[in-house]
Amino acid sequence: MGMVATAVAASATEGGKQRNVITSYAPATGEAIGEAPVLSAEEVRAAVRRARAAQESWALLPIEERAERILRWRDLFVERAEELIDLLSRECGKPRSEALIEITVAADFMTYFAKHAKDILAPREIELHLAKYRRSYVHYAPRGVIGSIAAWNFPLIYTVSDGVQALMAGNACVTKPSEATPLVPMRVKEIYDAAGLPEDLLQVITGYGATGAALIESGVDMVVFTGAVSTGRKVAEECARQLVPCTLELGGKAPFIVCADADLERAARAIVWGGFCNVGQVCISVERVYAHEAVYDRLCDRVTELTQSLRVGDPAGEVDVGAIIFPRQIEVAEKHIADALAKGAELRAGGRRPDGPGQFFQPTVLTGCTHDMTVMREEIFGPIVPIMRVRDDEEAVRLANESHLGLMGYVFTKDREKGRRLAERVRAGTVMVNDVILAYAMPETPFGGVRDSGMGRIHGEEGLRSMCEVRHVNVDRVALLAREPIWYPYSDASYKVLLKATRVLFGGGSIMQRVLDLF
Ligand code: NAD
Repeated sequence: MGMVATAVAASATEGGKQRNVITSYAPATGEAIGEAPVLSAEEVRAAVRRARAAQESWALLPIEERAERILRWRDLFVERAEELIDLLSRECGKPRSEALIEITVAADFMTYFAKHAKDILAPREIELHLAKYRRSYVHYAPRGVIGSIAAWNFPLIYTVSDGVQALMAGNACVTKPSEATPLVPMRVKEIYDAAGLPEDLLQVITGYGATGAALIESGVDMVVFTGAVSTGRKVAEECARQLVPCTLELGGKAPFIVCADADLERAARAIVWGGFCNVGQVCISVERVYAHEAVYDRLCDRVTELTQSLRVGDPAGEVDVGAIIFPRQIEVAEKHIADALAKGAELRAGGRRPDGPGQFFQPTVLTGCTHDMTVMREEIFGPIVPIMRVRDDEEAVRLANESHLGLMGYVFTKDREKGRRLAERVRAGTVMVNDVILAYAMPETPFGGVRDSGMGRIHGEEGLRSMCEVRHVNVDRVALLAREPIWYPYSDASYKVLLKATRVLFGGGSIMQRVLDLF
């Protein structure tokens, strides 16, 4: 394609065989910037064995001590922020400001879970509605070794976020980053080691899909997967075979609803940033816009104008939009655009690769879009914002829900109450009113999808607790008889007592009547 080779493309060539090293290339320049080993299944099993051994003593540490060590890791991580920003910017082609956002979010995750895991994982009392003479509570025990398999769009956040949640819950974590971006996770691990945390407790194992598959088969106790829907299905199948629980963070097709009363300037800016940050390679990118007909024309004009002002290029310079990490995404974008134009969409901005070297694509705005176009129905994961005119909010919500994906949604209106009502009707794991993207970076909130966007949640109470075995303990509160009435031996008398009790408790009519019926 005349583009810069990526780690993936480079590997496929050597005599048709997989090399045992991945070369990582800067997508903006094509320069080789480092190598990562391709781990074999045996090496993966050994890594998981070491992680399991390290986890046993880690789980015995009081949670305050785990937190203290995580914060030590965070301190060094923040101290070395600029070194990480340099590498992120080169390996992913991100503008430095976007690389910095990854650092900020990751540091916040470390801080939040270090400070709040104790409360979130505190044993929880359960009030029993019938068996009042007994006490129940659940406690959250570590699962053991969490296997994390990640995508290439935010390699630093995934390594830190899965790692810190797993560790604070008392687990070890073995992470398999994407073959397209192995160097950033390896550097995160170097910093973790330098902070003096147990070396085998958090491990980064590099390789291709086969290394990820080997991780699932290596005896891990849970899998947290971030990636494509098609890979997610394979991961779920393998987890089912192993009877290993999994959380699947898969694709998205976030709808963005612009109501007639929206703040148009804010909506247009949100669409442009939410559609083009990280070159649209975000699972919660603005992937389709439904604009009320009363504001449609003005919105399209403003989105076009803002998009045309974006500076695209090598992140070594001052740019807004960097490089495409994974070259296949350029072909995906071109196919969506060709299909939309053939079906009557209008190209208002971008639409092609700029001249010159590097894996770039111009931020693209398509208007006059309809639901028969692939760009409105299938994930883009690239810098295209398609806009469709709708008659009213009802049509917008109906179309927003006409999707096999449901990760994120956006509603823009000045009427917060209406925004909230519409948001509740959008079928997605998270819906934001009058903002974009940021919900992912709020560690106290659950994140995950419905429908084909996945299952399970990361972040928040739900995410942290999912990394634990929920164990229920039920104990007696009072002195007990030698035999419970429902135990052996069964008798006609005990049968009748239970039948009467069932009628009193659950029969129809008033409680008074049910008691009187006993006599
Ligand atoms: P991908 O599915 O191709 O790869 C993800 C990871 O899975 C990589 O590390 C890969 O090596 C590994 N893998 C591949 N085959 C495997 C197998 N058979 N068993 C185990 N592991 C295997 O995804 P990608 O191209 O890296 O990422 C893009 C996709 O990820 C998009 O669809 C995007 O929407 C999705 N994504 C989702 C979220 C979310 O939080 N929901 C976040 C980012 C990206």
